[in-house]
Amino acid sequence: MSKAQILPLSTHLQTRWMELYRHLHAHPELSMSEQATAARIADEFTRLGFQVQTGIGGNGVAAVLANGPGPVILLRADMDALPVEENTGLPYASRVRVLSPDGQSLPVMHACGHDIHMTVLVGTAELLAAHREDWSGTLIAIGQPAEEKMNGAQAMLDAGLYQRIPRPDFALSLHVAPTLPADTVGICPGYAWACADQVQITVLGVGGHGATPHKTRDPIVLSAQLILALQTIVSREIDPVDPAVISIGTLHGGSAFNIIPDEVRLTLTLRTYAPEVREKLIAAIHRQAKGLALAAGLPENRLPVVTVNPAFCPAVYNDPELTARIGTAFRRVLGEQKVVVVKPEMVGEDFGLFGRVTPSIPLSIYRLGVSPPNSTTPFPPLHSPQMAPVADLAIPTGVRALAAAVIDLLPPA
Ligand code: ZN
Repeated sequence: MSKAQILPLSTHLQTRWMELYRHLHAHPELSMSEQATAARIADEFTRLGFQVQTGIGGNGVAAVLANGPGPVILLRADMDALPVEENTGLPYASRVRVLSPDGQSLPVMHACGHDIHMTVLVGTAELLAAHREDWSGTLIAIGQPAEEKMNGAQAMLDAGLYQRIPRPDFALSLHVAPTLPADTVGICPGYAWACADQVQITVLGVGGHGATPHKTRDPIVLSAQLILALQTIVSREIDPVDPAVISIGTLHGGSAFNIIPDEVRLTLTLRTYAPEVREKLIAAIHRQAKGLALAAGLPENRLPVVTVNPAFCPAVYNDPELTARIGTAFRRVLGEQKVVVVKPEMVGEDFGLFGRVTPSIPLSIYRLGVSPPNSTTPFPPLHSPQMAPVADLAIPTGVRALAAAVIDLLPPA
């Protein structure tokens, strides 16, 4: 084990990071409204001697520290919070409320741990900036807006991110994991987060009086058949070893008990890993919708309208070689027991987009535990009003891990 791989974390530094964390936690901002957060993150990187650019794809921040010859690594933290009313009882709990575009008062909370992600990013950068003799290459820190809306990464790329900064050879990120203790990290080689699609189906019918169904084509009955038929796509058409989910989230139709309506609207979420599985799901939805409508006697001009939202978020594929390499670096600093292999999830994440360029950039996102070690009570899940990470343990764990990974990938010349 080389000395370089374990950089000392002074109490002074850890106190500063906790101050930053509490500030970010108490001042959350919703997706695409991260102005104050982005300004604070930009200030931190300016203070650390990085070249900072702001306003990339909304509130995106890119900070570059060139430290001699060597590879270029991109580290990314997301910056946005959620419309959740905090109920943790913490002294630095958020009391922030904002007005939505339609004039509603919304609570705001860092209920997904993005405040931890930002603090780990700043902490890692601070540690590496203070120990420049221990690594050689270029370090890029990204503060990404709008992860929760899954359009912030794309917005930064569309704004020419890779023309404005050196092109990375590797990209790393992290996400908090409520199921892991705060002294532990998780790695997941291969597909780790799912591709998330949004689909709308408008089931058309021929409306009329509820008492004369024979003079109508009932879109409610047709929707009921379609909902059940859609359940057979994953169970009967997709290879059982390929993960896939179809969930119907909304169903709206009709105005009165005795009227057969003209249409019913459904919205769905699809989750997949492999692009060919995604295409199969979408094709099967089109086929089932059309086939059932024809069977119900609807004419060609009243077939269901299936719309797949073009702004989908592809899956995150953790490069296996890179993931193995950072796993070894993590074990060196945290110990064998504190690095676990975690299962993939069907939740979406837009970090994968940073690597989906030509030629592609290998990337990996690791999980950082946030629950109390040795506790037997279940810890609240992400997006819960009770999500209160054990930040004073999770942040140094996250920083140690990420700094060790960077030093391994950008060894001193
Ligand atoms: Zn999140």
